[in-house]
Amino acid sequence: MKVMKFGGTSVGKPARMHQVAALIRRDNEKKIVVLSALSGTTNSLVEIGNLLQQGDKEGAKYKIEQLNAHYQQFIDDLLSKEDAKEKARSIIGEHFEFLHIILKISFSESLNKDILAQGELMSTKLFSCYLEEQGVDHILLPALEFMTIDVNEEPQLGNIKVKLSQLLNQHAHIPLFITQGYICRNARGEVDNLKRGGSDYTASLVAAAVNASVCEIWTDIDGMHNNDPRIVDQTQPVEQLSFDEAAELAYFGAKILHPTCIWPAQQEKVPVKLLNTMQPEAAGTVIQQEAGSVGVKAIAAKDGIIAVKIKSSRMLLAYGFLRKVFEVFEKYKTPIDMITTSEVAVSVTIDQEQHLAEIIRELQPFGSVEVEKGQTIVSIVGNHIAATEFILEKLFHSIATIPVTMVSYGGSEHNISLLVPSVHKKETLQLLNRGLFGL
Ligand code: ADP
Ligand code: ASP
Ligand code: MG
Repeated sequence: MKVMKFGGTSVGKPARMHQVAALIRRDNEKKIVVLSALSGTTNSLVEIGNLLQQGDKEGAKYKIEQLNAHYQQFIDDLLSKEDAKEKARSIIGEHFEFLHIILKISFSESLNKDILAQGELMSTKLFSCYLEEQGVDHILLPALEFMTIDVNEEPQLGNIKVKLSQLLNQHAHIPLFITQGYICRNARGEVDNLKRGGSDYTASLVAAAVNASVCEIWTDIDGMHNNDPRIVDQTQPVEQLSFDEAAELAYFGAKILHPTCIWPAQQEKVPVKLLNTMQPEAAGTVIQQEAGSVGVKAIAAKDGIIAVKIKSSRMLLAYGFLRKVFEVFEKYKTPIDMITTSEVAVSVTIDQEQHLAEIIRELQPFGSVEVEKGQTIVSIVGNHIAATEFILEKLFHSIATIPVTMVSYGGSEHNISLLVPSVHKKETLQLLNRGLFGL
């Protein structure tokens, strides 16, 4: 059994959906296909939710109608037979009816999650209509029946395994299953989601749950590139990454993968492949236990970082100081990304502003607290990078003009992280591309 996940751009146009159908029929292995919403849909649903939250029902109604028109055209181009089009129109019509009903009820966060779920529900149903028209035997598996998260919003892999295998066993002779990425049920049984970009997470969880032979992530680029292709011109695909390297890159901003989607595949040792729907023959990137080669592989950047520095002469020779500092962040469920210490100060970075005021207030008894917003973590990721000749010299030489805020090195064998003011992010990535990869 293998898992194939297709992202928003891979299903965003009727012709692309046709191509996806052809791709999944290239071999006879049994498969679960995970689909995202059509590109742009989740953004539109987010906007609709925001408009409703602001009480702008007219604005929301206009957006819903615009989206509906897009789907009507999509159906026309996706399907060729009139009865198939009629069926699809009626299925999609129900989802737009739901969106029109929500205009009449009061907005809540849980209702918003229902709104956000419409994208993946519609894309999978449309794809199923197309497969049916083509006479392809398949079953649509409702993700809301097996994908669950606990009270801490963590996916429950054990539970997912049990529920998914029950569903699969009901259709033991079916060779192809289609399911929704991103959506799930929370501990209260309500519709929820795995956060933006979460379809990758669904794919990895499904692959781990069924112990798939491979988890293929099909997207609009030929694998994980050595640097952010949205920012740097000369980038190239990386052939092989270890799970740890890929997890660091995803967590530190490589948008091609959801930040925490690697662990399920890693836990069950399912290789992950990053492939290009538009260029299916390209080698892409293989992510597995072994790193392949030694040295720097890729650079990623994560914005919206806040540096918090606690300075205290009481820290001098004091034990238990760091524990007290960390307990404050733990209390407010705010993860720390980078840490550096000196004799009299400790600096940490966080990516959530939600409880910043309370955190600062509770840190103040320990010393003076300084906060710097608008920072970016630039992560240099690879295998045994410390063993790479002259790595630090090359690294700092190439970014000599950048006012680096913090440096973290030695925490792991595959990461060097720099904190730079976000205004210097683009320049830093470009300089590192030249300095470390000669590109
Ligand atoms: P999908 O809709 O298929 O999930 P995403 O837009 O989420 O696709 O991810 C693919 C995009 O990630 C690429 O188009 C690219 O712009 C961006 N990206 C950012 N960093 C990297 C990287 N290091 N390598 C490849 N793609 C990257
Ligand atoms: N549709 C969701 C999003 O746009 C999930 C995904 O595409 O991975 O974030
Ligand atoms: Mg994505």
